[in-house]
Amino acid sequence: MRTTFLPFSLPTIEQDEIDEVVDSLKSGWLTTGPKVKKFEEELRKLIGADHVVATNSCTSGLLLCLRVLDIGASDEVITTPITFAATVNMIVIAGAHPVLVDIDRKTLQIDPSRIEKAITPRTKAIVPVHFAGQPSDLDVIYEIARGHRLEVIEDAAHGLGTEYKGRKIGVGSRLSVFSFHPSKNITTGEGGAICTTDAELADRIRVLRFHGLSKEAWNRYSEKGVAEYEILEPGFKFNMLDLQAAIGIHQLKKLDRFTLAKEALAQRYEKEFAETPGLILPRRVGYPHRHTWHLYTPLLDLDRLRLNRAEFIAELKKYRIGAGIHYLAIHHHPYYRQLLRIEDGMLPNADFVSPRIVSLPLFPKMTEQDQTDVVEAVKAILRRNLK
Ligand SMILES: *Cc1c(COP(=O)(O)O)cnc(C)c1O
Repeated sequence: MRTTFLPFSLPTIEQDEIDEVVDSLKSGWLTTGPKVKKFEEELRKLIGADHVVATNSCTSGLLLCLRVLDIGASDEVITTPITFAATVNMIVIAGAHPVLVDIDRKTLQIDPSRIEKAITPRTKAIVPVHFAGQPSDLDVIYEIARGHRLEVIEDAAHGLGTEYKGRKIGVGSRLSVFSFHPSKNITTGEGGAICTTDAELADRIRVLRFHGLSKEAWNRYSEKGVAEYEILEPGFKFNMLDLQAAIGIHQLKKLDRFTLAKEALAQRYEKEFAETPGLILPRRVGYPHRHTWHLYTPLLDLDRLRLNRAEFIAELKKYRIGAGIHYLAIHHHPYYRQLLRIEDGMLPNADFVSPRIVSLPLFPKMTEQDQTDVVEAVKAILRRNLK
């Protein structure tokens, strides 16, 4: 039995991140400044993106994207039901109406073949989510968008470093939004970033992320800054701090190491669980890609088990092992049940996945012994509860 609790995710913070944060603290420059600029530039180079704007979260980044595209009242936005609250919440907060399109049951990505049927004269945008670190089928999604004059905002919260047909997510994308929450591929504590191919959109996002003030106003107290500023339009307070960027500058250099570590762990899960009754393993997408393994999400084969997911997670806890749920389908949450009134059978794949999906521990500094503990506990629990 383990002596310590193994959470489903933990960030990797090393001495260089700590030193950089201390350096910021000692410099007296805490908020948006030179380190945010550096982080944006390093991230832009790492991805190969055209323009990068850092934010205080992916959630606020999603709202900024909806805002710069002037998406709001009476507009519809298509997205997936198997996503985090933020994706759909921001559509609602923007004043628009979310329209859920079912997923592919095997890969857990939005099913592009179902998108066209969901398009109406009010549809303004499609928001695919690169679920778990695999890419959505972007060629098909952008083709549909072009055909119907729709915008695409990629929720790339799981997708830093992910590749689609040899290209990193964020390259050539109209708008894609990354997350640096501690559970994501890299962290800045909290934070996000928007990539875009459009210089004008990037400029307006910069204005909107900081009160709607004229360019570079964040700099107004520094030696080179300009004290005067003008309000160009009402904006938000969504800027990233230098304290956050200080962490991110070093995390970026480690993205590949983190991904390789998670890939090795995921491959071992795949091998260990290949013949395990009671589990349905996540499948790879069928097109060329690089998976960054933000999550490892098997489904519990409830038809063959005498316990439900809550009971399974409670059993795992007895072994001092944590698990996550990514995600309960959006239309199963009280607010969205009420708002969307989606009936049984309308999103059959999401309905199938929603009560079955579970995230097992997966993070770069997880040890082989940690993983052995997970594998043995999962197998023992399932064996005891097979029908
Ligand atoms: C984590 C996450 C977000 C929100 O990211 P934050 O940086 O925490 O705001 C949005 N969408 C998805 C799919 C996520 O997993």
